[in-house]
Amino acid sequence: MNEKLRSNLDRIIWDIEEARLQVSAHHIVKLVGVTKYTDTQTIRDLYELGQRAFGESKVQQLVSRSEELEDLPLEWHFIGRLQKNKINHLIKTNPSLVHSIDSVELAEAVNKRLERPMNCLLQINSSGEASKAGVAPEEAKDIFDRIKESCERINLKGVMTIGAHSEDEKLIQKSFETTRKIFEDTNSEICSMGMSGDYKLAILCGSNMIRVGSALYK
Ligand SMILES: *Cc1c(COP(=O)(O)O)cnc(C)c1O
Repeated sequence: MNEKLRSNLDRIIWDIEEARLQVSAHHIVKLVGVTKYTDTQTIRDLYELGQRAFGESKVQQLVSRSEELEDLPLEWHFIGRLQKNKINHLIKTNPSLVHSIDSVELAEAVNKRLERPMNCLLQINSSGEASKAGVAPEEAKDIFDRIKESCERINLKGVMTIGAHSEDEKLIQKSFETTRKIFEDTNSEICSMGMSGDYKLAILCGSNMIRVGSALYK
């Protein structure tokens, strides 16, 4: 067993525990292990250590890994940009949660191809950075309601964001607080925010699902 992987995972679990208890004893946070930079043996090692939820950001890689690791009872999350020509491939993997619905058009295109409900999140561009996907915070509630209304097979369970790309913790915090507010306004179940560099802050801002990659492998 990879001892470094074990100690990295242990530290992350401990960090989660400390942060979530500062919010409330009832605040439960789920860890999604992001595996886009690692190999399938490492995913097997993480499984042995108890990790069950994994995230990939490319449909192709999600397809090949969910097939290769079919023998394990894993929960797959899709966290990347979804191109319309990959929708059918994504649906075939039967993902546990798709974090990255970022327009009504995309939601409708997915909905049309679905034969049974799929759990999804609406991605929010909470920092306003041009390079980031997601809907503008001011439009998020409207778009959320429209998707709920027009896409009967999209089970919209909440929101996802990537924190501001900044050294300034205040700016990162602001992007998380903006997302947290939308999470509340939409009466949602899942608030997916926090990555390797900012998951503690994200939890303190109310995240209940973090997506951590590089901190597991460093
Ligand atoms: C890669 C990725 C992550 C994990 O990033 P790390 O900083 O390596 O933890 C989380 N969310 C999304 C959407 C990603 O693409």
